Amino acid sequence: MLLTGSQAGATTTRTAATQTGTVVTQGTGWKHATILGVTSVSPTKTYTITFDTAAMKARYAPYYTEAIKQIRDAGIHIQVGGVEPVDVTKCGPADHIQITELHRPLGTPGWSQGMPCPFPDQGMSRGGMVAYDSEYWDGTWYMPDYKLKNTIVHEVLHAIGLDHPNVDLDGDGIAGPYECVATSYGNKPIMCSPNGGYSTSNAGKLVGYDVNGLKALVANARAQGLS
Ligand SMILES: [Zn+2]
Repeated sequence: MLLTGSQAGATTTRTAATQTGTVVTQGTGWKHATILGVTSVSPTKTYTITFDTAAMKARYAPYYTEAIKQIRDAGIHIQVGGVEPVDVTKCGPADHIQITELHRPLGTPGWSQGMPCPFPDQGMSRGGMVAYDSEYWDGTWYMPDYKLKNTIVHEVLHAIGLDHPNVDLDGDGIAGPYECVATSYGNKPIMCSPNGGYSTSNAGKLVGYDVNGLKALVANARAQGLS
């Protein structure tokens, strides 16, 4: 059954390769946010995570520590920055990933939103925005700790340029919720929708699939001569 996803990915890969030379936008367990025009991440610029308030920085920054090491290892320069006002109606300064908090940003209880700035120049991510659902903290939406950790990192990866890698594994014609490839240990990509990642002490870390997706974003920049 896993082959279905792999084969679909391989087909798309070949098509993309024909069109652009070497750009690959999806593979096993990962997918780029091509729907928003993002196909690469800069291998040289530094992406900076900023926060709407000091309280939000104190709240969320600790959750990024392990993930940031992995993102760097994948070839992306990223750092935790300071506080700057976030206007959710528009993208912030170049290469910033802006963090804020809203009550039900997508209208659905318990759902947060993360997205890259849509259609960046030459498809190279210029950062994005995350709006976490404030319900996680006011007692109205319970999530086990591992899910919270995974969700917080998941949204940042959206802002960088990863999409959900859900695929139709059971052949019903739909890439359904939680329908994602998994490791032999049962770990799905942290980018799996609506939840993925480790349920162990590794929660909040990227799974290998996610790392591969990030590496491919950087490789796409290099393949196109983008810096
Ligand atoms: Zn998502």
